Amino acid sequence: MGYGRLPEDTALRETGRITRTKGVSMPDFAELPAVYEILAHPRLAALAAEADHALLVAEIQACLERHRALLRAGRRKSAPSADDVAAEVAAAEAAWQAPSLRPVINLSGTLLHTNLGRAPLSAEAVEAMTRAAGTVNLEYDLEAGKRGDRDDHAEGLLRRLTGAEAATALNNNAAAVYLALNTLANRKRVVVSRGELVEIGASFRMPDIIRSSGCRLMEVGTTNRTHLTDYERALDDGGGLLLKVHTSNYRVVGFASDVSLAELVKLGRARDVPVVADLGSGALVDMRRYGVADEPTVQDAVRAGADLVTFSGDKLLGGPQAGIVVGRARYMKRIKRNPMKRALRCDKLRLAALEATLQAYLSPQTLETTLPTYRMLARPLAEIENVARTVRPYLERWAGERARVELLAGESQVGSGAAPGTMLPTLVLALISRQGTAAQLAAALRALAPPVIGRLHEGKVLLDLRALLDPAPLLAALGGAESDS
Ligand SMILES: *Cc1c(COP(=O)(O)O)cnc(C)c1O
Repeated sequence: MGYGRLPEDTALRETGRITRTKGVSMPDFAELPAVYEILAHPRLAALAAEADHALLVAEIQACLERHRALLRAGRRKSAPSADDVAAEVAAAEAAWQAPSLRPVINLSGTLLHTNLGRAPLSAEAVEAMTRAAGTVNLEYDLEAGKRGDRDDHAEGLLRRLTGAEAATALNNNAAAVYLALNTLANRKRVVVSRGELVEIGASFRMPDIIRSSGCRLMEVGTTNRTHLTDYERALDDGGGLLLKVHTSNYRVVGFASDVSLAELVKLGRARDVPVVADLGSGALVDMRRYGVADEPTVQDAVRAGADLVTFSGDKLLGGPQAGIVVGRARYMKRIKRNPMKRALRCDKLRLAALEATLQAYLSPQTLETTLPTYRMLARPLAEIENVARTVRPYLERWAGERARVELLAGESQVGSGAAPGTMLPTLVLALISRQGTAAQLAAALRALAPPVIGRLHEGKVLLDLRALLDPAPLLAALGGAESDS
């Protein structure tokens, strides 16, 4: 059978046959099949011929160990057969071969969900990534026949679209903020309003980023009100950079005031101190068109005179994960010379997707067809209602006796920290459980292929249809599950 070298394999001495310890009552481990038996099992023949031998043996041992533990704990009364173990090992090996990153259907009501990969890419961006997957002129000047600069691929478009003198694309906006501060204010004091020291998700907290970029944090003003005089005094006390942060994911309302970017720029110029604006989402079009207020555009920040402006690639821009810095050429030169730039740069796939995404903005009138993010944002209720009508019978059939289905008015949110106060009217299909809990229903939806992600609300599972641009995979998932039940 070609297992000639097996007897020498130390791994195989561990056969699963455990000798009983005298006087101690133990389940009969002698019943557990041996590793070599499993290896020779017909079910694993094809696998054993191709797979890494040591890894396969380790998988079998792990499987036997699980059974041993179950027997020891008394949770299993009898040992599994060689057939059972072989089937388990085959399933485990299949899982190793399957992609871990899988498409899911986002019906959570959060359009750009950080946990679900934020902005879905446009078809053009996906094509561009495929094109760039092979050998490309990433850092190669085809005219001169020598080394080029990877920034060349997106910088021209970014300058043209934003009006900035220079631009670069980094790993994400956290990297962009880090590099901007580290380059312009290492060991200096960064002046920020207390109302803007935000946390965006668990791992991005403004004070932490400022400190880890080598700067000292100089807080000014209060949570709800900061005045120009607060900034002036901070510069008198040695402030070396003025930072304005867009409070992406929360709003201070009521007795509140802050200092505009334009005012900060005026102050910065007068005192020869650079001004950096972290916009978070960084929209390139006026978001009021989509019912999203309070989302400043990158062009506005550039026009206001910010020396550097940073924003994300995968929030309202609708592109791949990236952090974009645009601004003055003299500061960008220093950013590009910072050794950390190399550690934070984008790879060719993301640069390709970013370029294709930016190209969509050359025709802003068609954004709602070219970029999925804008299709979701601009979707009229009537269209969402059509989707609901299509999906509902499939969902009802899938739910069967387990739940009844209701169509309810709801609200979607943009997500990823953009436009926290904005709720977009939507329609949701609500599953109201008749057997079991809502959490069990939600889990059953996640177990579909592709997994369907809803949200729990007041004992119901809500499926928000605004983000369902193509219902076909959902219908297939629901239909496929039906035949099983
Ligand atoms: C989202 C956000 C960030 C972090 O951006 P990533 O691209 O997720 O790294 C930083 N600042 C603000 C204001 C944000 O909204």
